[in-house]
Order: sequence, then structure tokens, then C-alpha cells
Amino acid sequence: MLIHHSKPTIDKQETKAVSLVLKSGHLAQGKIVRQFEEAFARSTGCRFALALNSGTAALHLALLGLKIAPGDEIILPSYVCTAVLNVIYYLGAVPRIADIKRDDFNIDPKSVAKLISPKTKALIVPHMFGLAADMDALRKFSIPIVEDCALSTGATYNKRKVGSFGKVSVFSFYATKMMTTGEGGMLLTNDKAVFSQALDLRDYDNKESYQLRFNYKMSDLAASIGLIQLKKLPKFIIHRQKIAQRYNKTLSGLPIQLPIQGGKRMHTYYRYVVGVKDLSSVIGQLMAYGIEAKRPVYKPLHHYLKLDFKDYPVTQEVYSSALSLPIYPDMSVLSVNKVSLKLRKILKH
Ligand SMILES: *Cc1c(COP(=O)(O)O)cnc(C)c1O
Repeated sequence: MLIHHSKPTIDKQETKAVSLVLKSGHLAQGKIVRQFEEAFARSTGCRFALALNSGTAALHLALLGLKIAPGDEIILPSYVCTAVLNVIYYLGAVPRIADIKRDDFNIDPKSVAKLISPKTKALIVPHMFGLAADMDALRKFSIPIVEDCALSTGATYNKRKVGSFGKVSVFSFYATKMMTTGEGGMLLTNDKAVFSQALDLRDYDNKESYQLRFNYKMSDLAASIGLIQLKKLPKFIIHRQKIAQRYNKTLSGLPIQLPIQGGKRMHTYYRYVVGVKDLSSVIGQLMAYGIEAKRPVYKPLHHYLKLDFKDYPVTQEVYSSALSLPIYPDMSVLSVNKVSLKLRKILKH
């Protein structure tokens, strides 16, 4: 049987919650969404939370909240999915692409420093694979930060939850993220004006005056799943950390680079990423053993944008070596052992 790369963790609690909403007859955005927002805000220590139907919608409203206009420059790392790039183009803004750090795959403050110009209006900081970026260094630039916590819901930095550092922060609840609502997202902020605007733009109905608005609403059906997943999140994180520790042990001594420990950052191990030689071949050989491993980022942005590869030495190196092994909260010890054993065999150790 195939060992999946990632998988949602759902049990009868979610099934029951959804069926209660179905039976209530109120399926769309309503009081369950508001409960989910309140619970989410509480869990991060932020004042305002707005539930949305995707992380992309949250990013879009976040940038609108920062009053991004055509021609404004926004700094983001190359090593991230294209959702982040798309929202910059939604607004006619200009992406400025930074390199990353080798040890944690997060945006490199030194690279950011070189991209800052008078037109810089925002810095998007994705916390990659469950480990927070270097917020102390990044905040020193005094550029409004959008924290992208899509891959790191529940992670902390100096004991503070990610999402509580940026002027505005976004989360994704896609099926295989840290927690899920099927599809979904959340915007967090302590800024009343940013929140009020995002609240207004989330839906189009019953408005006094016309302006361009969206349908970015989450349904009560989705929120009922989210409420349960949020309660389970601390357990999900503990399970992921245990699996990571088991990998650390069973993969030790191999000629591969293991993930770093978090230190003052709590690693939630959304991904367990190792560095290997002959990446494509290793992925193929694992698949032949029924193990689904992947490049954790499909393709870096500087490839899509045809920027000079020389300006992205670390992203290039990571792209050619980073291998994401299967990890999800209810992955069995047996499966972890099998992955390690087969990887050892492939690497002939
Ligand atoms: C998944 C993801 C998004 C987009 O979220 P969706 O819910 O799929 O729209 C944005 N940024 C990062 C870093 C992501 O991983």
C-alpha cells in the first residue's frame, strides 16, 4: 500500500459536526464561522480574525489592507508556491524576489536588504515547512510585513505564535495543511482599519454604495470542521514532532542533511525535508517502493519568472537537493520505519 506524502487527519468528530450543520439547514457563512474566527483569534492572541474560503483570498485581502497599488514593490522569497506571486499580480504590483537561507528554507534578511527601494510597500514572509522565519531581523527593516503562516499554523517564535508578528497574517486550511476545512483560509490582524476593510470586501451583498468586492466567504460547513481541527492542532503538532524525532533517529549516519532543530522557534514539522544527492532518482526509487516523496516546492519563482539563476544560489542548491518525506499526524511508526529503511537502501547504507 502506498505511503502518502501527506494526508488530512479526520475522524468521526468532524463527520458529526458537519452533519449537525447540514441538519440545521444553515450551510453558508453564519454563526459557526463567527465561532471559528473567535476561537482562532484567541489561539493566536490577535484581536481580529476573518475566515475566508482560501489562503489566496486571505493574501489578496491582506495586500488590499496595506493599500498596495499598481507599481508598488513587494518583496517575497523565490522558494514558495505561486499563490503568493499571483496575489501581487492581482493588484498590478511588482514582485521583488529574494533568496533563502540554507538551514531553514526561509527568506534571507541579507537578500531582502538588497531589494529594498523607495517603492517597497510590503514584505511577505512565509514560514516554511513549520519553522518560523527570522522575525527579529526582518522586522528591523520597518517594512509592513504580511506573515504567510499557511505552512506553519501553530508554530511559535520566542514562545509567541506565528501570525502575531505581522501587520496582517494569513493562513490556509487546504486539505493537507497543518489543519483543514477542506479549502479555507484566515486573515489575522490587530489593526482595526485593515480588519474592517477586509470584512467589507469579503462579500458583495447588502452594501450601501458600490465598489469592487469579492465572494471570499467561508461556509458554516467548512467552519464546523475548522473548529474541531483547531482543537486537535496541539495534538497534531506533537504527533508530527514525534514522527520527526523518529526520522532523525532512523536516518542518522546517512549521507544526507537532516532538518535543523528549532531552538527558540518551535518546529511543527509540516514537512520533514532532507537534503540528498540525485534528487529525481531518489524520488523515483522511493515511489517504486510505494513511498510518495516530493520536492517540497514544485518550482522556485525565479524559474517561472526567468530571472538570473546566479542571483539565487541558495534556492538553486535547495531546489536540487530538498526531498520532503511522508509526514502527517496519524502516520504509523511502521510507515516511518519503512521510509527510513528504503531510503537507507537507496543510498546504500
Ligand atoms: C497553500 C499556500 C498558500 C495558498 O493557500 P490556498 O488555501 O491554497 O489558497 C499560500 N501561501 C503558502 C505558503 C501556501 O503554502
